Amino acid sequence: MASLNSETFHNVINGALKGASKQYHGINPFTEERLWPAPVATEEDLEEAVEAANVAFKTWKNTTLEDRRSRFQAFANALVAQKSEWADLVSKEAGQSIEFATDEVEVSHEYLTTIPNIDLPEYVTHDDEDVKATTKYYPLGVVAGICPWNFPVLLAAGKIASAVSTGNTIIIKPSPYTPYSELKLAELAQQFFPPGVIQALGGDDNLGPWMTKHPGIAKISFTGSTATGKRIMAAAASTLKRVTLELGGNDPSIVCPDIDLDIVIPKILEDVFTHSGQSCIDTKRIYVHKSIYDTFLSKFTAASKSLKLGHGYLSPLQNKMQYEKVASLRKDCQDQKYQFALGEPQEKSSSSPGYFVPPAIVSRPPENSRLVQEEPFGPIVPVLEWDDEDDVIRRANDTDQGLGATVWCRDPERAERIASQLEAGSVWVNRGAIPLPTALFGGIKQSGIGGEWGPLGLLSYCDARTFHFSKRP
Ligand code: NAD
Repeated sequence: MASLNSETFHNVINGALKGASKQYHGINPFTEERLWPAPVATEEDLEEAVEAANVAFKTWKNTTLEDRRSRFQAFANALVAQKSEWADLVSKEAGQSIEFATDEVEVSHEYLTTIPNIDLPEYVTHDDEDVKATTKYYPLGVVAGICPWNFPVLLAAGKIASAVSTGNTIIIKPSPYTPYSELKLAELAQQFFPPGVIQALGGDDNLGPWMTKHPGIAKISFTGSTATGKRIMAAAASTLKRVTLELGGNDPSIVCPDIDLDIVIPKILEDVFTHSGQSCIDTKRIYVHKSIYDTFLSKFTAASKSLKLGHGYLSPLQNKMQYEKVASLRKDCQDQKYQFALGEPQEKSSSSPGYFVPPAIVSRPPENSRLVQEEPFGPIVPVLEWDDEDDVIRRANDTDQGLGATVWCRDPERAERIASQLEAGSVWVNRGAIPLPTALFGGIKQSGIGGEWGPLGLLSYCDARTFHFSKRP
């Protein structure tokens, strides 16, 4: 197999690699150095891709599931066969350590092989002597997969697997911050899928809005911020596009007094600091029972000190905007004189490149502080205290976000009682916040509309049609 060429990047349109007259560069978050030239798609490029996707759809929708599944298996195998090259690319553009980027490539393989093997349901909802009514699911057409910058390969892989295995075609739009591995993923896909089935366009801020208003696109699968999600939903209304919106979160983690701190703290540490807090389902607020608060804080702080910047899951922040946003939040905590258990801000040394931010832990900031109310998307977390179960549930739910939540509790009855009252699309009980390709993943409240993955996620890439068959001649 030819080695991955990670020096030149193209739009992938109708089975071909297409150059662009306008280009720009991503930035390596470790070094702040410019990466390779990346294409900026024009409106004509989008037209060409949408037309090719609609032509390909006419044939692709009629292919067998068996055919689609074997293509996905070969595609995923080709990805993982060169995982160190892919991990190197993801590391350089997204700012992940090699170890962490390798994990993203392996998990992408899992999603590309698991999702296409999920069977869609078929419902007989009425059956008497008169009529039999059956509801079946059919692909929509062309999907636009609009992606963020935090997990470029995995989030694109999840959208490609869901859309294409259900008979749709897809055009991937990477974040302008991380165009490289998604363009390469679409390039690799050309070896396994017919032209027009999987395409990708790099672009600037114009491309997303062109896609969301385009009449030739049937659905937008979007992962990104709540603010952009609202704009996409408004734009999609004019053509009544289907939308799946996977948006931001402010995920609480509730720690009960009966837990074994030595077992649970490493798991919470990972939930908080994965990709330096730049994962949508990272724990953003830790609520610890009063009776173990001090011990928890000192053990959690000691464990956080062992993390090394730029290693494991403690990445640099991906871009300057994010770096400044997190810096402003840390500064706000300092100005308000909140108590830092770790990571009180200091001046950044101009001699050290990279968007590195050391982990910060803030003890008992007020519930209405910016740190508790906003999604930091960086390595800073408030540790709050609770005493009354109803009160902590109320505080955990007191947000317009509802993406994920975690409960740590040995007593299974109490764990279930708390979990069932948490307003979040995914609730993890006594396990880290890690989604599964076989289970629906999505946010409630302002964390999203609909969801992806698992059988229910696949249905969001389909229209339901009900057939009423008369039993009388
Ligand atoms: P973002 O909303 O700024 O950008 C996401 C994508 O939308 C990019 O590709 C961007 O170019 C595009 N875009 C921007 N404006 C657009 C418009 N008007 N129309 C169409 N497309 C447009 O998000 P981000 O900063 O890249 O990602 C971070 C956010 O994503 C965080 O809030 C995080 O919680 C969220 N996120 C959510 C999930 C989830 O599954 N729920 C997963 C990862 C990230």
